[in-house]
Amino acid sequence: MEYAYDDQNIFAKILRGEIPNKTVYENDHALAFEDITPQAPVHVLVIPKGPYMSLDHFARDASAEEHSGFMQAVAEVCRLTGVEEGFRAIANTRAHGVQEVPHYHMHILGGRPMGRMLA
Ligand code: 5GP
Repeated sequence: MEYAYDDQNIFAKILRGEIPNKTVYENDHALAFEDITPQAPVHVLVIPKGPYMSLDHFARDASAEEHSGFMQAVAEVCRLTGVEEGFRAIANTRAHGVQEVPHYHMHILGGRPMGRMLA
């Protein structure tokens, strides 16, 4: 499962500060920012700072510190956005998952009932 990470993707540019973002939370290993086209009252993207294309690459290759930092960012996003009543976490993955930006990201969607959705 080798892959070539494209460092010209839009989230790589956000991480390098070449494109502005509305940051919700940041730590050494992850950045969380508002989606530019929100699909719900809360729509935040959490991304690792390392060059991982998809969820399975991150799961396989990231260090314990990166995993911990990423999940800390998820926890902080949930706390800061006040989604106590629930939310949906989505990681669209490559072609079949209709992933548009080839840098692993987790969507956190909340602020309203999401409706049933598995595909
Ligand atoms: P995907 O389809 O890859 O899971 O989701 C990519 C997400 O990135 C989309 O929800 C899209 O709105 C968001 N997005 C694309 N370009 C930008 C951008 O330049 N800034 C921000 N904040 N979000 C973006």
